[in-house]
Amino acid sequence: MAEPRTQTPAASENPGSATRARKAGGKAGQKTDKPGSSRAVARTGATSARKTATKPRAKAAAAAPTSTPPQTAPRDMSKAEVHQFLTDLSRAWPDAQTELHYTTPFTLLVAVVLSAQATDASVNRVTPALFAAAPTPQAMAALGDEQVGQLIRTIGLWRNKAKNVVALSHQLLAEHGGQIPHTREELEKLAGVGRKTANVVLNVAFNQPTVPVDTHVFRLANRSGLGRGRTVEAVEKKLEARIPLPMVRDSHHWLILQGRYVCKARKPECWRCAAQQSCLFPDKTPLPRPKAPRVAL
Ligand code: SF4
Repeated sequence: MAEPRTQTPAASENPGSATRARKAGGKAGQKTDKPGSSRAVARTGATSARKTATKPRAKAAAAAPTSTPPQTAPRDMSKAEVHQFLTDLSRAWPDAQTELHYTTPFTLLVAVVLSAQATDASVNRVTPALFAAAPTPQAMAALGDEQVGQLIRTIGLWRNKAKNVVALSHQLLAEHGGQIPHTREELEKLAGVGRKTANVVLNVAFNQPTVPVDTHVFRLANRSGLGRGRTVEAVEKKLEARIPLPMVRDSHHWLILQGRYVCKARKPECWRCAAQQSCLFPDKTPLPRPKAPRVAL
């Protein structure tokens, strides 16, 4: 994992997301990289809103004079501000790259499909054995659902993902001569591959200036003012238009690492954020007070 210069990342991304994903389940054949989709974002917001509304404590808080801090910047950044914000992130994450382990475009594609609603760390634990057994679409197709499932059963939605990985291997053999296609449209036709997965493969494997928007990038873009939008597609469109071309490829990694380890969902760690000066979020989290030492009585 890339080490930040002025920030200290946590050990891994929120493991609770994988647990929630397992509980949520998944249908066979369903595309699984949905946490960043507009429907998923909207559903998450609606669910949390319902939960909040039924909690007595939340009612009391609503009656209190303090208002809920806004979770988005009041405006979009200017071009100069975008450049400064990304420059700050580039200094924080100088060696940023994907945290998924892969060796070829095919193993990258499989790793990204497996990482939907699971942590990169959990995927990296299963892929060494999986890629040793099946490093190519031919070998993956020959391995079949059952054996692939046995090799990846510690990650969320493993049954569905095993079927998708085998199915996409068959598709690659039948329709692309065993090669990974270079366009988003063709990638999105593969089993288990949605827009975000396609964008990651195009960016990382083929150096294309795509901007994959996952839940971390969506949150960070809205909070900071880098590119605000109500849906993943809206944010992606804005970021594509606003991020300077030479910065697009690397910004994918800067934004994911920043959102995952610093600009966290529940409480952004603004006090140690390298982009604190250039971020437009009005309610930055201050440095936590040190806890008072316990006094033995
Ligand atoms: S200052 Fe805070 S809200 Fe802004 S990017 Fe940094 S962590 Fe996120």
